[in-house]
Amino acid sequence: MSNIETVVIVGAGQAGASAILELRGNKYEGKIILIGDETHLPYERPPLSKDVILKPEETKIEILSEEKLTDLGVETIRGNGVVKINADAKTVELQNGDLVAYDKLLLATGGAARRLPNFDALGKHVYTLRNLEDSQALVPVLQAGRRIILIGGGVIGLELASSARFKDCEVTVIEMGPMVMGRSSPRVLSEFLLAQQRLAGVDVRLETSIADCKLEGEEIVVTLGSGEELRADAVVYGIGIVPNAQLATEAGLDVDLAIKVNENCQTSNADIYAAGDVATQLRDCGNHRRVETWENANLQAGIFARHVMGVEHPTPNPAWFWTDQLDINYQFVGDMAAAEWLVRGEINAEQRAESSFVLFGVTDGVIVGGITVNAAKEMRHLKKLISKNAAFEADKYLDLSQDLRKLVK
Ligand code: NAP
Repeated sequence: MSNIETVVIVGAGQAGASAILELRGNKYEGKIILIGDETHLPYERPPLSKDVILKPEETKIEILSEEKLTDLGVETIRGNGVVKINADAKTVELQNGDLVAYDKLLLATGGAARRLPNFDALGKHVYTLRNLEDSQALVPVLQAGRRIILIGGGVIGLELASSARFKDCEVTVIEMGPMVMGRSSPRVLSEFLLAQQRLAGVDVRLETSIADCKLEGEEIVVTLGSGEELRADAVVYGIGIVPNAQLATEAGLDVDLAIKVNENCQTSNADIYAAGDVATQLRDCGNHRRVETWENANLQAGIFARHVMGVEHPTPNPAWFWTDQLDINYQFVGDMAAAEWLVRGEINAEQRAESSFVLFGVTDGVIVGGITVNAAKEMRHLKKLISKNAAFEADKYLDLSQDLRKLVK
């Protein structure tokens, strides 16, 4: 039994919703108040770049319904966000001036799309993708024959390129760096992703800078660093996020772009926690790092809830995320900076991927990372191998006649 009377959660996204389920799952019986800026109930974000655009009518993304929230005894405040944290008084102030008291506060405010002001200044035909409205706004834009320029060859850029090709748009991706998904994928897989996008007809430009952009009638003209001009009906950019950490900064918490948290997800104020994209955690290497994944939002929400309840955390699984592009499912686990990558199966980047393969990331003879390509069922074996620091044995793991399930004991 906890003596905490009120937990206030700011941010009705994945981490906020998961924190509610984890609190109740860990037998917290006190009051939970969920405060969201958006008017929606918590919803899943992964479908925003895919099914919400491709199948808007049939895609359901709600995480917690009104009914479920009532069953869980959660009070919700929507469209009346927090404007200030009074850490000494342990209250938060809402847009309308009301004060809400807390014993423990969770900041799960996520992040906002990093902006490109010169594109925003064009006033029309320029989009970003972060929330449901952004995604719905793209539905009429991504129509057959439209010329779409995507700026940023990260997860948003490539998932949207895939959706836009499914809609028969003409698609160009402009990436500043030398690789697509360069922040989250090793080179061998990045090259495969690039080849698949190009095979699907996407014009991907790497190491490409933008010198200028302007509106000419209903057309956007983008001038590249090389001087080449590209013309488009719309531009969508996905160049990373900026954590929504302003409330924390103004409350005097320790913030370095994102809110710094310890292993319990506590900020520099022990009664205020942070989880998800807004939080940056101390890693074994001694540096703080932000992990912008769906799984991490759930994981940190669980850590927060268990800490509030005085329950020990289980050792987390190695970090995992996935992306779906052009009907190919990719899943990633563990350390993407492994020293070498070895393939189980065959990578044929010149063909549309109909087959599947697995990549083992190995450092100093130990399996530290793994990737499955259209081989989701192998993912749990990779997670286990990484968790137990298994030694890599090429003759076993790369031999397709050997069942991975049986090799993981
Ligand atoms: P991202 O994955 O960080 O990728 C942004 C890309 O844009 C990077 O490759 C970056 O290159 C490039 N870039 C930056 N500035 C640029 C510029 N001025 N011109 C051209 N390229 C530029 O970020 P994102 O795709 O915007 O995604 C945002 C967030 O949503 C991330 O947190 C992501 O994890 C999350 N998300 C996740 C999934 C998933 O897990 N499946 C799906 C969608 C979104 P450099 O690296 O060289 O800077």
